[in-house]
Amino acid sequence: MTRLEKRLLATVARASIDFRLLEPGDRVLVAMSGGKDSYGLLHLLHRLEQRAPFRFSLVAVNVDQGHPGFPKNVLPEWLAARGYEYRIVEEDTHSIVKSKVPAGKTYCSLCSRLRRGILYNVACELGATKIALGHHADDVIETLLLNLFYSGQLKSMPPRLRSDDGRNVVIRPLVYCAEADLAELARELAFPIIPCDLCGSQENLKRKRIKALVAELGRENPKLRGNLLAALGNVRPTHLLDAELRAQLGLDEARGQDDFLDGDQARSSEPLLLRRPQPLVAT
Ligand code: SF4
Repeated sequence: MTRLEKRLLATVARASIDFRLLEPGDRVLVAMSGGKDSYGLLHLLHRLEQRAPFRFSLVAVNVDQGHPGFPKNVLPEWLAARGYEYRIVEEDTHSIVKSKVPAGKTYCSLCSRLRRGILYNVACELGATKIALGHHADDVIETLLLNLFYSGQLKSMPPRLRSDDGRNVVIRPLVYCAEADLAELARELAFPIIPCDLCGSQENLKRKRIKALVAELGRENPKLRGNLLAALGNVRPTHLLDAELRAQLGLDEARGQDDFLDGDQARSSEPLLLRRPQPLVAT
């Protein structure tokens, strides 16, 4: 193993311990798009499978979404040559996305939702206990900033999440890995990367701008990415304005709720702590 592989492997192991991503007896469906991150994810999980003090297994799954020019043979040949258990699922979501999304808009939101639904079903068919996705630390940071800047929400990508219907557990073992390291690993190991622009989606300009902003600020402050990632693990609810969360945690002392209210407000049955502030800007 190269030094880079060792470092990335330690990083994945750290995430697994921190968030209980891999557990004894797990059968992990590894989502393979053919991009550098998905190859890195499968490779690192395979290395970990060989070294972990408990047994778990992997099954790589690629959803062939019917993108024009998708090189169908690349992934099966690569996976078979390395002895991976794998499944290729053919579902033409591309036609659905093209017919539903207005011209000029990015396809990604609908495309990834459809793909996720397919993966959830395939995971059940294959008896997988977890679904591993290849999002890395830079995705986590960019998603945090996108939500802050454009959605008014303080959230990012969870390292481990049970699906709404309770059937699946999604994990992100690369949450602590830098994208630049995964790109370097892809070069070192000559992964046969499948281009991600076959779908013909418009570029997500907001994400692109956030990426550029982080890169620019990162040149001034090399600790910037690390600090943003650390902030997600260092949350102080006492210093936030989420009244619901504060109520759940019992952070504010109970007081006579009517003390500061006018007549109409005082008659409302909704607890003061659960009322949302009005947005400053009309939406
Ligand atoms: S880049 Fe293309 S394939 Fe990837 S999520 Fe967006 S629309 Fe789907």
